[in-house]
Amino acid sequence: MGKVYLMGAGPGDPELLTVKAVRILKSADVVLHDALVDNSVLAMVRPHALLIDVGKRVGDRRIAQEGINQMLVSFAASAATVVRLKGGDPLIFGRAAEEMAAMRRAGIDFEIVPGITAAVAASAQAQVPLTDRDGPSSVVFLTAQHAIGRGPKEIARFTAAESTLAIYMPNGRYGEIAKQVMAAGLLPQTPCLIVSNATRPNQKLYWTDVAGLQFMSQPATPAVLIIGTVARRRDEMISAASAFFAANKTEVETAHREL
Ligand code: SAH
Repeated sequence: MGKVYLMGAGPGDPELLTVKAVRILKSADVVLHDALVDNSVLAMVRPHALLIDVGKRVGDRRIAQEGINQMLVSFAASAATVVRLKGGDPLIFGRAAEEMAAMRRAGIDFEIVPGITAAVAASAQAQVPLTDRDGPSSVVFLTAQHAIGRGPKEIARFTAAESTLAIYMPNGRYGEIAKQVMAAGLLPQTPCLIVSNATRPNQKLYWTDVAGLQFMSQPATPAVLIIGTVARRRDEMISAASAFFAANKTEVETAHREL
């Protein structure tokens, strides 16, 4: 019996893989990967390994989750090292629970190798913090489906705590999201950041606010949407920082004069 690694491939840039992920990828016998996994990450898999794109559409149909579960179980019976490679982190919107349940049922040994999730990569690229000492103290990972489908009351539970919202899979639903978060009490001028293709050569950053979200032209996919006071533009943060330093300098000078 082999071992299965549920592995995060990160957002795209292969340098963001963990050392452990690279080591295992280089020795894997079978790699079952999602469509989101970047080619530069797949390039680390050794040439004679079996590389299967389980995210691929065949006609309009994808391989069903049940089929992937079965593949994991049967490959683990014949191959030494099987990697189930997912974009970002495998435990965030990755349907890992179903795969883990299938492997537990079949008595297969498995291990999780974390990856950098899209919202974390996006905030790093934009140089915005997800939490702030003077601002939000929590981050909520949501899918657009949850954000919209469950209505403003549901979102209000998250925004009430002054959280940063990190919304995955927002594609085509920016207007609806804006309406819902405003209905939940967020101000129209709450800053928003969209990062598409985070850490990839075609990465793009879009800065707007909740009111502006409704008029967004559609950013490329995959994209992640960050809503909250932390998502201010870099130039605004720079002027806030210089105001802070200027204020501090004055205090230092005053203290100095008093001495
Ligand atoms: N497990 C993944 C999320 C899978 S859901 C993770 O932890 O990141 C797929 C969604 O992830 C996409 O619709 C998009 O919202 C986001 N995503 C994944 N890779 C991304 C990237 N490179 N840039 C921006 N968003 C990304």
